[in-house]
Amino acid sequence: MDIPALLAKIYQQLPAENTGKVATYIPELAKVDPTKFGVHAVTCDQRAFAFGDSEECFSIQSIAKVLTLTMAYQREGDKLWKRVDVEPSGTPFNSLVQLEADKGIPRNPMNNSGALVVCDILLDYLADPKKDLLAFVHSLTGDETIGFNELVAASERETSARNRALIEFIRSFGNIHHDTERLLDFYCTLCSLEMNCRQLAESFLFLASQGMSPCTGERIVSSTMTKRLNAIMQLCGLYDEAGEFAFRVGLPGKSGVGGGIVALKPSDYCVVVWSPPLNPKGNSFYGMAYLEAFTSEVGGSIY
Ligand code: GLN
Repeated sequence: MDIPALLAKIYQQLPAENTGKVATYIPELAKVDPTKFGVHAVTCDQRAFAFGDSEECFSIQSIAKVLTLTMAYQREGDKLWKRVDVEPSGTPFNSLVQLEADKGIPRNPMNNSGALVVCDILLDYLADPKKDLLAFVHSLTGDETIGFNELVAASERETSARNRALIEFIRSFGNIHHDTERLLDFYCTLCSLEMNCRQLAESFLFLASQGMSPCTGERIVSSTMTKRLNAIMQLCGLYDEAGEFAFRVGLPGKSGVGGGIVALKPSDYCVVVWSPPLNPKGNSFYGMAYLEAFTSEVGGSIY
């Protein structure tokens, strides 16, 4: 199959009108050019295919939650699941509604409540959380140029009323232990990680490779942990659109409000699409459409 030609063809066949809207609730994100579009696919044996603005960095936002989850899982093991559940939520990423009934145990680590608890757990372990996070990200690919966007982090800190509310509400159930400002600062910095499509696809390739990074040859997590992380992405990675994503794309995936979506097929490949305008559920409008066509054309879904 001529993959480069296919990547271009799928782009040409996207719906002419992009009905998505760029996220504006974090002012710094509103500045992105909505016409940007990039794709990078990399196989477990490191063959790579790219299209469009695939070398341009963007804010990976919630996609980074998988990386902190991996770090916390490495340290805490299965004890982690006492503080955060693994059930799909069917609610938007920043929702508070289920926490009351669930007594402060977030439904899953992919929504904001769960990611905040995961960050709280990591603060127990990390001496210098932001530096340690970056060191972990660098260890996935060996690429030390990946960094945070301080403007995005500051912009998110200033508009964090909802995440602050989540922290205090979860604290009232005893499931957050650290200082609110410190936790919020770590979480907002996490969300400000910047990567291009290639760096992001390479960073997630260990999840397609039974927990071993093909880029460095290092084991990141066991194959059982890999299975669990992929299952969580499949069921929860696109919030209240996780079912739709499984239905249309058929792969474990994770989205972010920066317009990126990463998806992977175990033992095969990882693909990243970036297009900033988001559908009403906060997922990239073109990203969803592109991945749907991609997995259909290459026969590349797990179903
Ligand atoms: N930083 C964002 C927030 O907490 C992450 C949301 C996302 O990408 N879905 O609002």
